[in-house]
Amino acid sequence: MASDLVIVYHRQPYEEVEENGKIVFKENKSPNGIVPTLKGFFGRVDKGAWVAWKFAEDAANPDFERVIEIEDSYGKYSVTRLPLTPDQVSSFYHITSKEAFWPILHSFKERYNYDPVDWPTFREVNWAFAEAAAAEAAPGAVVWVHDYNLWLVPGYLRKLRPDVRISFFHHTPFPSADMFNVLPWRREIVDSLLACDVVGFHIPRYAVNFVHVAQSLLEVGPVTRKDVNPDFVWEGTALSDRRVPEAVMYQGRSIRISSSPVGIDWDFIQARATDKETRENAAAIRQELGDDCKLILSVGRTDYTKGGVQQLESFERLLQSRPDLHGKVRLMHVSVGANRSMTAYEEIQGEIEQVAGRINGSFGSFEWQPVALISTAVPFKDLVAYYQVADVCWITPLADGMNLVCKEYAAARTDGDGVLVLSEFAGAAVELSSAVITNPFSHRSMDTAIEQALAMPEQERRQRMKMLRETVERYGIKAWAEDQMSYFLDEDGDARLPK
Ligand code: UDP
Repeated sequence: MASDLVIVYHRQPYEEVEENGKIVFKENKSPNGIVPTLKGFFGRVDKGAWVAWKFAEDAANPDFERVIEIEDSYGKYSVTRLPLTPDQVSSFYHITSKEAFWPILHSFKERYNYDPVDWPTFREVNWAFAEAAAAEAAPGAVVWVHDYNLWLVPGYLRKLRPDVRISFFHHTPFPSADMFNVLPWRREIVDSLLACDVVGFHIPRYAVNFVHVAQSLLEVGPVTRKDVNPDFVWEGTALSDRRVPEAVMYQGRSIRISSSPVGIDWDFIQARATDKETRENAAAIRQELGDDCKLILSVGRTDYTKGGVQQLESFERLLQSRPDLHGKVRLMHVSVGANRSMTAYEEIQGEIEQVAGRINGSFGSFEWQPVALISTAVPFKDLVAYYQVADVCWITPLADGMNLVCKEYAAARTDGDGVLVLSEFAGAAVELSSAVITNPFSHRSMDTAIEQALAMPEQERRQRMKMLRETVERYGIKAWAEDQMSYFLDEDGDARLPK
């Protein structure tokens, strides 16, 4: 049966695990809850479908079924698994997406590194995603495509199925024209995105950048209210900003431009934060730390965009200039190496280890180790206990589409205390203005912010945390998803996907 809602997301919507020689599909409960929230929409339609990829040694004869039917707490839906060989994955994902697109999206021109010979593979893989979505979609269905590694899907899909409605969401920043236009395939990519009905971004700045990029490359015009498809509404959690056009015109069609920040699953984190195990874990961490030692927590992936080295250097300067803090502060620096096989990430990991080692060597003693460097993922339930103990959560990426760790920290602080220091280059800074906002490219700004956080009086900490928590609760992941779907109404003005 054809599907009313097709979600195109490169990862499968469950964990595949082997139990007693059989493959079973387990629901994965992640703290940011994006996959469960997306699946939640399947409960509103007669039939939902998901398109993802899966490793196959021989793509023509995969050792798994291409399309499977899943029945779980979200209802019944089908999952198409596109068989991709390790070579295709390397070319489409590790090279094109991570070595060409990722640095440009995050404004690191000097890290752009690409051998154009991989472009045909990128097209081929995106074409396969588009064909699979076209095969699943019912007439007039909504197809919801996610992220930059599927940039060409909307254009292909529009050709295959002119009747479907296409929404695309970027989970990364979107850079200015000077940066984006480095990509040799810029016109092809933007032309594809303009085949959508809605193109979504986290924050208005990224949306403005996209419109400027589109105008710099193609005949993209402004719109008036009457040009906009009247089926679309403009409400919900979208961050309104006068500078962002509501829509643009291209080849006689209007395309809505939206900015809605992805949030976290508030209820899930509240449940974790208040359970007995977490409280016991938090008490044990605090006891080990001692009452007069402050914990600064930094959590992120090992990636040059996350600014780990710059942050450690700021901590080193803090210890140099403030001997009174020796023995009174510890930095837990979680830097998870997800992409160990890639040189760029290996290099950063090496630099992080070097600076952390230097700090511990210069300032540490038998009793006190200033930096605890953790390179493997901390399970989320343990992370919540650290969030609860951390006097300061120090999140200073050089560029970050949104950043959910900072939102999780606020959500986990059920005691209403704690200070968030946040980079102005994290998308989340637009919403979380009551954090201590810092510029990670400025030594002075970084150093002042961490000192301010460590010295902040309790009343101010609580006031700021209250505001952070209110925002994070209000604009959670469900509000984001509702906002994205609010664009799709049927001819009678009723929601096509009933609420
Ligand atoms: N995370 C985790 N354990 C770790 C480090 C990170 O569970 O040791 C989770 C964290 O809780 C968050 C996600 O990984 O949900 C990171 O999301 P974020 O948006 O901050 O950064 P991204 O990695 O997507 O750039």
